[in-house]
Amino acid sequence: MIEVNDLKKAKEVEIFGELAKHDHEQLIFCHDSQTGLKAIISIHNTVLGPALGGTRMWNYTSDAEALHDVLRLARGMTYKAAISGLNLGGGKAVIIGDVDKIKNEALLRRFGKFVESLNGKYVTAEDMNMTPSDMEYIAMETKHVTGLSESIGGGGDPSPVTAYGVYVGMKASAKKAYGNDSLEGKRISVQGVGSVGMHLLEYLSKEKAKLFVSDYNEGRLHSAAKKYKAHPIGLDEIYNLEVDIYSPCAMGATINDNTIDRMRCKIIAGAANNQLDDEVLHGKMLASRGIIYAPDFLINAGGLINVGIDYLGGWSKERAYRKTEKIYQTTIDILNLAEKEGIHTHDAAMKLAKKRISDIAGLK
Ligand code: NAD
Repeated sequence: MIEVNDLKKAKEVEIFGELAKHDHEQLIFCHDSQTGLKAIISIHNTVLGPALGGTRMWNYTSDAEALHDVLRLARGMTYKAAISGLNLGGGKAVIIGDVDKIKNEALLRRFGKFVESLNGKYVTAEDMNMTPSDMEYIAMETKHVTGLSESIGGGGDPSPVTAYGVYVGMKASAKKAYGNDSLEGKRISVQGVGSVGMHLLEYLSKEKAKLFVSDYNEGRLHSAAKKYKAHPIGLDEIYNLEVDIYSPCAMGATINDNTIDRMRCKIIAGAANNQLDDEVLHGKMLASRGIIYAPDFLINAGGLINVGIDYLGGWSKERAYRKTEKIYQTTIDILNLAEKEGIHTHDAAMKLAKKRISDIAGLK
């Protein structure tokens, strides 16, 4: 993986070198003087199908930082789609700039034209700093967009489906740890009670789990505590709390050198992307401490499943939930594979995802 600081130091970015590192297929730089659009679309792998991944708008400090982000995110989408049994590849797009200053109809529609020019090889959706109405502007210029609101015929907000996938992945992990998948009486801490965290609490409270919640946002914290009879806890306190399950549903990289030794949980199962600060090192550290880690890109795939079915056709809420429910069995399979082969669970999940891609690539 390229480090931003290294890139800054480098005289020039070795673009093809970066593509070769993780075998990315294609990179598209989009520029338009009239609207001020600067965007990068990264297509990592299209063996299983068109590369689907959201468009993120961010005020990157350098083009190299934007490049680093889009390559990393596109690669993540490949394995998330593969492990979820979707006939989709992995891609992602970033639009560079300050949302408040540059985002407008013309810029978004210009971006839509670039997406359209790829003839469906890349399919876009919502990501950070993009709203459903932004996606509607993009959709005016391309049909290769998904995740539109239900009111205009799309699959709508992916968060409830994501929460459902996290919930079933958590239950599967409980079955592995305790011999049955009931969460009744289990102490569960949920970090971040935003769109996904709040829906997750609904499932957990129905199962009569003992809930602990943390969030920067005082309003959300208190409404979650009140609605679900959860105990509010401090932002840092969450890492020391003795619980059965820790569920990171806020930001990534919370499993790191500073937190692992403080954790007193049996299971980690949450929605956040890239929970392991270092996939290899921290995956191994969790395994050696006997903590069951439900791989993030597997159990938070409900949202992708929702938009994926929407794009591929035949979407219904029931179908999206039914496919998401399969995360339960896949989690069990991965935890068993990790145990059998003496590898950590993130590794086991990657192994299964890569196997599906190479099996399909080998079809005559
Ligand atoms: P959100 O922005 O609605 O909610 C995140 C919440 O976390 C906010 O309430 C925020 O105040 C809180 N938060 C931020 N930093 C925190 C901290 N240090 N401690 C405690 N709380 C903190 O986001 P979301 O849509 O609920 O997504 C949650 C996570 O799941 C994100 O990492 C997202 O990338 C990932 N994810 C979401 C989806 C989806 O369908 N929404 C799908 C896959 C992955």
